[in-house]
Formats: sequence, structure tokens, C-alpha cells
Amino acid sequence: MRRRSVVGIHALGCRHEEDVRRALLDADLHAVLAEIATKQESVTVRLNSTVVGVDPELPSVTLASGEVVKGDLVIGADGLKSIVRNIVIGHPECPIATGDSAYRAVISTVFIAKDLELMAFFRASDTNGWLSGTQHVVAYEVRAKKELNLVLVHQDDESVESWTAVSDAKKMMLEFSGFEPRVQKIIAQIKTPLTWRLVDRNPLETWVQPRGRVTLLGDACHPILPHRALGTVMAIEDAAALGNILSHLSSQDQLPVFLKTYQSIRHRLASAAQAISRMSKQLLQIPPAPHDAAMRVMKGEDAIKHVEKDLDGGFAPLRTYAVVNDTPGADEQKEIESLLCDVDEAVDKWWAEEGERIVGGTGSKGA
Ligand SMILES: Cc1cc2nc3c(=O)[nH]c(=O)nc-3n(C[C@H](O)[C@H](O)[C@H](O)COP(=O)(O)OP(=O)(O)OC[C@H]3O[C@@H](n4cnc5c(N)ncnc54)[C@H](O)[C@@H]3O)c2cc1C
Repeated sequence: MRRRSVVGIHALGCRHEEDVRRALLDADLHAVLAEIATKQESVTVRLNSTVVGVDPELPSVTLASGEVVKGDLVIGADGLKSIVRNIVIGHPECPIATGDSAYRAVISTVFIAKDLELMAFFRASDTNGWLSGTQHVVAYEVRAKKELNLVLVHQDDESVESWTAVSDAKKMMLEFSGFEPRVQKIIAQIKTPLTWRLVDRNPLETWVQPRGRVTLLGDACHPILPHRALGTVMAIEDAAALGNILSHLSSQDQLPVFLKTYQSIRHRLASAAQAISRMSKQLLQIPPAPHDAAMRVMKGEDAIKHVEKDLDGGFAPLRTYAVVNDTPGADEQKEIESLLCDVDEAVDKWWAEEGERIVGGTGSKGA
């Protein structure tokens, strides 16, 4: 893996690196990673190969076809509903209902170019959010501003935790009919919203099976609510850390120690990311403030002036709410800031200070 470089900017259709920093669709990131993986001679990608069982002793995985694939290590990067997770923790995991669901859609921005009000609005900011009690809408431009990614969070109505479940556009429009006219114009463009039940999970005690033959990565070990957009970066950083650590491996016996290191480098940060994403729900679902009704009949600058005059500063309601509620997320934010680091640097430091000594200097880079 090349270190500290942005990959595939042109493959993503982005005009410049800045687009990549702002927002990237998961499908585009997936395509870039798949392209890199399939170019490696040592990598075999097998599609349509659902894993139905794991033998942690060999270790091996059993595919739906019945085929058994053996290896030195099983890495469960199988997402929220991981079956490998059950093997590592020894029991099925209990999801916690959040009471929320999300409609998701990616739509073309052609309609924005034909609407002066929306054009000016998105020119001012390409990432926008609207909060209203238990509902909020997030809209940001992707694919060099050619498409708009939309997430609409609302009260759960028995949807399922799924990337592909489809909902009814009319029902969605009705639920969000109280939002301002620009939101109505935007969501009227969604023909087939996907729907996703937002389910939370507590941090796992361990990501590694005691024998060191099975481990977890990404959502499989730390599913993260989407409110802070931290899930994908945590998964990618896990992979970077694990890849770097395993590049020092020279013998299978080293696996338990190496995997323990992987967990110790990543677990606290990922757990803090889970916690702060959970807390963010409280900030996003801030109760209506007294000035809301007055602001709704005003427009743009007038509404902002009203808030400034009436409440002494643009974020007064958020501040008031934070003080009353002991600043939700503040501790987790501090924890995250204290843990942030370059994963490669963290692994290199471990190798220099402990790793090389632990393996008796036998580990060779690139083994
Ligand atoms: C509504 C919503 C919005 C989000 N928005 C953001 C955002 O803006 N930014 C962000 O960073 N994150 C966001 N996330 C979270 C992000 O999508 C996840 O954190 C990320 O995809 C985790 O990556 P992963 O590789 O661990 O798991 P996944 O992306 O879930 O990949 C797991 C893979 O394993 C495969 N798999 C599962 N089971 C098996 C099996 N038995 N056999 C074979 N293959 C299997 C699946 O098909 C899938 O390809 C959002 C999530 C939701 C629900």
C-alpha cells in the first residue's frame, strides 16, 4: 500500500483533489479500492462468494457453494451484520434500536442549474443541513458537483438495516412536508429513496480471537452511526494499520502478538468514534427553539440577523442546549483529539520500540 497519498482522483471524475477531501461516494471509493486490489498479483478477488461459516481453528471459511477456503488468518471485514464477529466474541451481538431511520438517495444536480434560488444556495455552500426536532436532512454535492448525496433522518417506522431496501417517495415527501421550500424542491427529485434503519452497537471487548487466527476490521468490530461520517475512515485506517503490522510478519506464531498490537492501536479511537457519533444525535435532534417560528417566515440574511439580535450569536440554541445537557459529546471529542494519529507512524513507532524486540529481530518487512 502506498502511504499517505490520495489515490484515484481522476478515476473518480473529480476536478481536483479538493473534491476528494470534501465528499466521496462509497461506491466510488469501493471502485478505486477494487481497482487497486485487482492489480496486485498476490490478491485474488472472488465475487459471489458468500461466507456461511468460519472454522477459527484451521482457520478456514466455508462458502455458500460448500467450498472450504483455508488460510493463515481470517479477517472479518464483513460489515454491520458480520458473521465473523460472532466467532470472535463467542456469541451473537445485540443491536440497540436508536428510534431513527434514514432515507438515502443520490440524484443528478441538473435541476439545480435550472433553478436560480437553488443555484445561489449551493454556490454559497456545497454541504447543507436542515435540523427539525427528530428529523434532519443533509445534502452535499459529489462527483465534481454533478450529483447530490442526500440523507434524511426520521423516526423509525420498522425499516430494516439494509443497503438496498427501497421506500416510497410519496411517504418520504409527506414526512418532510414541514421543511422549508428549498428542501421540498430537492427531495421532490428523489424517485426511489433507499431506507436504512439506524441501529447502534456497543464497543466490543475484543477484536481478536484468543488463538490469533481470526480478527475483525471496520463496521464488523465498531459499527458507527452515520451522524459524524466517521465509519469509512475508521475502516480504512484499520486496514492501513493491520496491513502495516502484518508486513512485519515472518512467522505464524507472531500472529497473536501482532493482532493484539493492531487492536491496541485502533480500539480506543474507534470506540471514541462510536461514542461521539451516538452523542451527535442529541445535537442534530436539538428540540425546537422559541425563535424557530419567527425565522421560518424570514429569508436568508434576515433570519440570521434575527438569531444574532435575539439570541446573541448564531449558535446560541446549540450553546444553550449544550450547557443544559453538559455539552454532549465534549468528552468524546477530547478523547478523539487526544487519540488522533497517523496510523503508519503509530505502527512504525510500535515496531521500533517494541515489535522488533518482541519477535527477536526475526521479522522482516515485506515478508
Ligand atoms: C445512512 C448511512 C450513511 C452513512 N454515511 C457515511 C458517511 O457519510 N461517511 C462515512 O465515513 N461513513 C458513512 N456511513 C458508514 C459507512 O458506510 C460504513 O462505516 C462503512 O461502509 C464500513 O465499511 P466496512 O468495509 O467495514 O463494511 P461494509 O462497507 O458494510 O462492507 C462489508 C462487505 O462485506 C460483505 N459481506 C457481508 N457479509 C458477508 C458474507 N457473509 N460473505 C461475504 N461477504 C460478506 C458485504 O457485501 C460488503 O461488501 C454511513 C452509513 C449509513 C447507514
